[in-house]
Amino acid sequence: MDRMMNADLHCHSVISDGTLTPEALAERAKTNGVELWALTDHDEVGGQDRALAAARAQGLPYLTGTEISVTFAHQTVHIVGLGFDAHNRALVEGLRRTRGGRSERAQEMSDGLSKVGIRNAYEGALQYVGNPELISRTHFARHLVETGVCSDTSEVFRKYLTEGKPGYVPHRWARLQEAVQWITDAGGMAIIAHPARYGFTPNEEYALFSEFKAHGGRGVEVVTGSHSSPEAVRYAETALEFNLAASRGSDFHSPDESRIDLGTLPYLPGQLTPVWELLADRIQ
Ligand code: AMP
Ligand code: MN
Ligand code: MN
Ligand code: MN
Repeated sequence: MDRMMNADLHCHSVISDGTLTPEALAERAKTNGVELWALTDHDEVGGQDRALAAARAQGLPYLTGTEISVTFAHQTVHIVGLGFDAHNRALVEGLRRTRGGRSERAQEMSDGLSKVGIRNAYEGALQYVGNPELISRTHFARHLVETGVCSDTSEVFRKYLTEGKPGYVPHRWARLQEAVQWITDAGGMAIIAHPARYGFTPNEEYALFSEFKAHGGRGVEVVTGSHSSPEAVRYAETALEFNLAASRGSDFHSPDESRIDLGTLPYLPGQLTPVWELLADRIQ
């Protein structure tokens, strides 16, 4: 178990906004040479038992996972949790509360879109949803691509679903401290997901990392499908500066949409402590 391990500790199934089942993901991970896998659906652990059973069937070592939406400094930050007890009451209940409000938000997004002539987007997005409690912007994006409004999902986000655009509705997610505590108290490790994606000022980013550590957070994603290689180098330095373990995950959502497939990332850079070294006794 070293940094040269093909661990893929971040991906999504139909239980959140991915397009494959946990079983199909386990099979794909195995085929692509993944040596340690975690399914990390947004704000949800409902797929964990299926993912573990599917990993076992493939002979694939598994860590439980989730990706929690958090509001920090008026922005949405994602916290990955790994190696927790997926049946922990406080975690399950906290995630359930975090999912609440997604339907209302989706209705408001649809109202915003109808003002620019895009009708019935809520009903359209619902057709792509696997888990009714987890309607997300991704499902709207798929609907708008399928109906020809845009040619790909990134165009949908750029034109309709990001701040200042007609389908964007600000939302209040969990607090950083609660997300870190739910994961940690359930025996797992909290990890800052894809830090380069947030567009924080240096001061805000420093505050995120310091508060995260103060609450008991222990890791950061360094090699991820949403980082360029210079960004991975930059956050390798941040991991050392804050004495955080380093994680690696594709953030795979769909064979048709994701740039990086399961198990196809570069290895972690040297000197870093891989999160799986600290989670060795949580691997199933
Ligand atoms: P939500 O939790 O409903 O706000 O949706 C967030 C999800 O939208 C993320 O987990 C990504 O899967 C997806 N997403 C966010 N920004 C983009 C983007 N620029 N292009 C494609 N997908 C995106
Ligand atoms: Mn997503
Ligand atoms: Mn994310
Ligand atoms: Mn993700």
